Amino acid sequence: MPESRQLPPNPLSDPNFDRASHRRLDAAWLEATRRSAEAQVVPVWRSKALVGPGEDVRRAAAIPADLFDWDLAIDSVFLGFAAGRPWFAADISAFEPEDVARRFDPHGVFEDLRMVGQLLPTDEAALLAYAKGILWWHERHRFCGVCGHPTRSLDGGHRRLCTNESCGAEQFPRSDPAVIMLIEHDERCLLARGARFPVNFVSVLAGFVEPGESLEDTVAREVFEECGVRVHDIAYASSQPWPFPSSLMLGFRARTDDPTLTLDPSEILEAGWYTRDFIRAIEANDQVRIPPKFSISRRLIDDWVAEG
Ligand SMILES: [Zn+2]
Repeated sequence: MPESRQLPPNPLSDPNFDRASHRRLDAAWLEATRRSAEAQVVPVWRSKALVGPGEDVRRAAAIPADLFDWDLAIDSVFLGFAAGRPWFAADISAFEPEDVARRFDPHGVFEDLRMVGQLLPTDEAALLAYAKGILWWHERHRFCGVCGHPTRSLDGGHRRLCTNESCGAEQFPRSDPAVIMLIEHDERCLLARGARFPVNFVSVLAGFVEPGESLEDTVAREVFEECGVRVHDIAYASSQPWPFPSSLMLGFRARTDDPTLTLDPSEILEAGWYTRDFIRAIEANDQVRIPPKFSISRRLIDDWVAEG
């Protein structure tokens, strides 16, 4: 399906961002650059990103690196280049809420990307998602999982090394793979309300990949566990980084010959088969809601609706 490669990337990813990974090993360049006026710093406070004010449109707020007080950062990461400038992320979570508001008020406010991501330009949303995701990884890997000693950050924030010389275990930033899938039967698609979803909110099914599973195995297992449906013709669609906190969502399509639903009530409160016409009318209908365009779940739904 060559035309599928022409489709735009999903929100929170940016294929044009230059990660410049060769610079990660150049400690002298990193040290000079992170104190230069051309470099920009994206501060992240307790997994929230600094965003300028606004109603319908928000902009990422960055601070020139030569004006940033690096002593405030618990961790920092060289992200790469955008618009010809080097970008860094800095974790400033040690601030109390009132202090962070006072110090950063001139630039913006710290917001949950899930709330404001769809109001940001796509490249800025992707940059903030990257910053948030990798700093969360640092926060959760300050100690060695092998021997328990502290770790230290290296390679511009893209590696952590155990400080216990007799251990020396390395850790690298990671994402947790999760599948998300639109299931079709007879010109209808399966949408469900998960146990943690708001009332009237339905979406496609999703679940985490377990050790020893292929992605296709996970798609088949999750659909059967949650809705009792056996699927076939499992095909990859697209993917989306989803740093809430650390997922990589892998989107799939699949079909079933038997639409009988047997729900797992601990996971799924309700589920049903929806026609394209019904979904097209949802925007004008407050009885059912589907995910915002910001998410791959909506991308899967919209692409399917556009086919018929
Ligand atoms: Zn260790």
